[in-house]
Amino acid sequence: MEYPKVKRNVLLNPGPATTTDTVKYAQIVPDICPREKEFGAIMKEMGEDLVKIVHGDLKKYTAVLFCGSGTVNIDACVNSLLPEGKKMLVVNNGAYSERAAEVCEYYHLNHINLKLSITEPADVNAVEEALKRDKDIAVVYACHHETGTGILNPIREIGAAAHKYGAIFVVDTTSTYAMMPIDMDKDNLDFVMASAQKGLMSMTGLSYVVGNTEMIEASKSYPTRSYYTNLYMQYSFIKEKGEMHFTPPVQTIYATKQAIKEYWAEGEDAKWARHQRIWEAIYKGLDRLGFETMIPKEMQSRLVVSVKYPEDPNWDFNKIHDYCFERGFTIYPGKVSNLPTFRLCCLGAIDAPDVDDFFVVLEEALLHYHIKLK
Ligand SMILES: *Cc1c(COP(=O)(O)O)cnc(C)c1O
Repeated sequence: MEYPKVKRNVLLNPGPATTTDTVKYAQIVPDICPREKEFGAIMKEMGEDLVKIVHGDLKKYTAVLFCGSGTVNIDACVNSLLPEGKKMLVVNNGAYSERAAEVCEYYHLNHINLKLSITEPADVNAVEEALKRDKDIAVVYACHHETGTGILNPIREIGAAAHKYGAIFVVDTTSTYAMMPIDMDKDNLDFVMASAQKGLMSMTGLSYVVGNTEMIEASKSYPTRSYYTNLYMQYSFIKEKGEMHFTPPVQTIYATKQAIKEYWAEGEDAKWARHQRIWEAIYKGLDRLGFETMIPKEMQSRLVVSVKYPEDPNWDFNKIHDYCFERGFTIYPGKVSNLPTFRLCCLGAIDAPDVDDFFVVLEEALLHYHIKLK
């Protein structure tokens, strides 16, 4: 069936991302009850694909799906994977790892909030020191890519340290999954997580944890701290019944099925090359207009750029945002503590020419509001 084209917006915010029309229209399906076998088959195949995207062996890893935004994964992993009497070590170098520490507080979990500099990749030695000091640490938690700053953390090395001390390693890969190549075994990962609206370029409402099946099985005997977001409960329901425990986001699952098809068609390496091309185009534009950035290039994920506000008193982020938004481009406020920054992100179904088009509009906006950069 032919559908009309949908107005295309270029989203430079950190998700949800720009989607293809084929993904948008994949949601238009005959009404179906998600308890039907036909729907179960889609879920099963999707679960396997989600594991394969991070090169996980299906005999060793499984996907656990949740209805919710990405934070539901953080909640589920943190509340479900801590054995009685043990501690979680949260490697905290940004807003998203801080969120895991907050989840620990909300569930009153025994944890160490290892606060590190938010403008540098996490220091592996500091993690190893913490592990050496405290033999009760059973879980190490880190964020792969701190989306607030664009900092990329050395997860392979942190994972090696966690495993050396017998801890499991849980990583928030929400803003790298299906963008940057990730390999469960090579990267020393036990649990990763993501949300369909980010790297997969699908719709909001579906999130998933890919984890070590034996470790999920072992968590059956751990204290339960949540009803709706218990990892083992959801896992066992999917395993036994082939369904999510509660109503799944039906239309988002259809969109995600299509998005995964498009992911395999584009290919892991080609997609990562495209994201980096977008990042280069952002730098080219920023340099041309005279903007300065926060984080040195070599520390970055190449998926987010934190840009300093210009010093010109005429600068007003909201006005610039609105000017661009009205012309189909969305920019996003920063998250580097209280530092005045905004963010430009490289995810979604966009490419370098979209970024070039954006910089034409941004330049117009600067002229319109008499903002001088150099
Ligand atoms: C987007 C994101 C999340 C999830 O945020 P939600 O607002 O709940 O979707 C979690 N971690 C990281 C690193 C993210 O970029």
